[in-house]
Amino acid sequence: MVVIMKPGASEKEINDVIALIKNNYGLRVDTIKGAFQTIIGLIGDEDAVDFDLLEILPGVERAHRIQSPHKLVNRTYFPEDKIINVKGVKIGGNEKPVFIAGPCSIESRHQIYRIASEIKTAGAHILRGGAFKPRTSVHSFQGLGEEALELLARAGEEFDMPTVTEVRGETQVKLVAKYADILQIGARNMYNQDLIEEVSKQKKPILLKRNFGAGIDDFLNFCERAVAAGSKEVILCERGLLPIGKGRQHTRYMLDLSAIPVIKKESYLPIIVDPSHAVGRRDLIYSMSKAAIAAGAHGLMIEVHYNPEEALSDGPQMIRSGELRRIISVCNEIFMLNHHEEE
Ligand code: PEP
Ligand code: MN
Repeated sequence: MVVIMKPGASEKEINDVIALIKNNYGLRVDTIKGAFQTIIGLIGDEDAVDFDLLEILPGVERAHRIQSPHKLVNRTYFPEDKIINVKGVKIGGNEKPVFIAGPCSIESRHQIYRIASEIKTAGAHILRGGAFKPRTSVHSFQGLGEEALELLARAGEEFDMPTVTEVRGETQVKLVAKYADILQIGARNMYNQDLIEEVSKQKKPILLKRNFGAGIDDFLNFCERAVAAGSKEVILCERGLLPIGKGRQHTRYMLDLSAIPVIKKESYLPIIVDPSHAVGRRDLIYSMSKAAIAAGAHGLMIEVHYNPEEALSDGPQMIRSGELRRIISVCNEIFMLNHHEEE
C-alpha cells in the first residue's frame, strides 16, 4: 500500500501518518519526497492495515494498494525514471548509455592501471575489476582481496572513473564499501537476502546481477529487499540465464534481452547488460552489446584486458580496448536512433 500526501501537506501531517503506520501496525515505511508531494510506502505484512482510516488522516490525498509484490521498485509507486549519479556519471532514464569496463579480476598494479588507462581512452565511464572472485573451483584464482580493492580505488582516482567491484560475502561488506563507489552483488548471491540487506546499509549504489535461474519477478523481489533495507539506488544487471540443451556448447549462458523492456515497464530503476558473462566468448560481445542497447539497456558492463590469453580468469570472454571503442561508438549511435524514434 502507498499513501500519497496532498501537495503542501505539512511535516507534522507526514510524520503523524508515518507514526501511525509504525505504531498501530508495526510496519516500516519508505518515503519519497517529490517536488510537490510526499509518497509513503508501507513495508511488511499489510493485511491488518485499515485502509479507510489512513485515507481520512489530515494531509492525506489518497491511499491505494499496489498488487505487485515488488511495489517499492514499481512504476505505480514512483512513475519517474530514477537516475543514479555516481561521482558525476549518470545512469538511467534518457541519459546516454553508461559503459562499465575492466578486467574480470584485478591481477596487479600494472594490469589494472594499464586497463583503466585504455578503457578511459576508449570512452568508458566506470572501472570494474574483481577483488573477491566467486569461483566454481577452489583451485582457481580467487582474487587478490584487499590489495585489489586498493589498486582499483587508486586506478579509479588516477583515471577519474568511479569503480565497481563485487562483495562476495557478508564479512566483506564494510571493507569493499571503504574502497568502491558501487557495490556489486553477483549472480550467485542474488538470492542472499542477508548480504543484500547488509550491502544496502552502506548507502552506496548497488549493482544487482540477475541470478542465472531467476525469473524477472524474483529478480525484482530481491531488488525490493535492497530498497526496503534503505538503498534507493539499485542498478539491475541482466547477465544471462542457464542455457538449455546443446546451447551450452556455444554460449556460457543465454542473454535474456526481453528482460530489458519488461523491467523498464515494471520499474523506474536502471537496467544494464553484461554481455561478457552472458555469452562467455569475445567474438559475440560486439553483436550482443548492440542488441542490448537497441533493446533499451541503460548501459553495459564489459570485461576488457590487453592480453586476455594471459588473464587469470575469464580470458575467453575478454575483449581488447580497441573493440571496446568500436562497441561504445556503435552503441551511442543506436542509442541516438532509439531516442529519435521515441520522440
Ligand atoms: C562478475 O561480474 O565479475 C561476475 C562474476 O559476474 P556474475 O556474478 O554475473 O557471474
Ligand atoms: Mn568474469
